Amino acid sequence: MINAINILKEAQKSCCAIGQFNVSNLEILKAVLNAARNLKSPVIIGTSEGEREFIGRRQIVKLIEAYREESQIPVILNADHTKSFEEIKKVIDAGYSAVHFDGSELPFKENIKITKEVMEYAKSRDENILVEGELGYLRGGSNIHKAVEIKEEDMTKPDEAMEFVKETGIDSLAVVIGNVHGIVRGGNPELDLARLAEIKNAVGKTFLVLHGGSGISEKDIQEAIKIGIVKININTELRVAYAGALKNFLSVKPEETTPYKIFPDVISAIQKITEEKIKLFGLPVVGRRKN
Ligand SMILES: [Zn+2]
Repeated sequence: MINAINILKEAQKSCCAIGQFNVSNLEILKAVLNAARNLKSPVIIGTSEGEREFIGRRQIVKLIEAYREESQIPVILNADHTKSFEEIKKVIDAGYSAVHFDGSELPFKENIKITKEVMEYAKSRDENILVEGELGYLRGGSNIHKAVEIKEEDMTKPDEAMEFVKETGIDSLAVVIGNVHGIVRGGNPELDLARLAEIKNAVGKTFLVLHGGSGISEKDIQEAIKIGIVKININTELRVAYAGALKNFLSVKPEETTPYKIFPDVISAIQKITEEKIKLFGLPVVGRRKN
């Protein structure tokens, strides 16, 4: 299995972040992997519970294996926002190389307890499986919002982060520092970078993850990487590009019915955004060394 932990360690050393791009079908997967191959960058493919229900757990594992062999680009497959231990088992047994257990809605002690069980199960199957935990209340879904209000009590607390990491031994921690899922019309909230720095001090070398990367200003993203974010999740911007390019194509050529003639425009729109993000995140050197 691919060593997801080493890839993030390399990113941490070179002060860049690896992008996680969520997919739910072949077209989006092709677009993201085209971008990774073009830039010779490692990449994380994410699937939420809904997305992997749609594409199939075993099916996405096999697809990625095939692309990885062909391209020689390190591709990590992460089970994004997994809310139960049962589902964690399913994805690990299907062959995922990374899991995100999201117990952020549970009471703190309960979140620690199940995250620990997830760690034990994952590492007993393969110690290279990357395990991500989450603390804080992350608002919004991966779509476009009119407005989102973030309260300070929803944000990750540095002292809790320290305890959580110590108790669970997780590889990476998803934090809430003003980020939300989705894109907010009129601009996403600014990140609380001072809080991020405090969390970084509290958790040491644990990888820090920024969810809701769509819509955050480039400046905030770059600052967050400097402070210690090593994985950034992008979903909504890809979905918006997908729907927009598809609608546009079909409005210009309503008679076209051949999928492989319809979808190249959609794929290149998503590929373009993915390439921009990979560059913004500092173009990880891990993949480049191989070539
Ligand atoms: Zn997320």
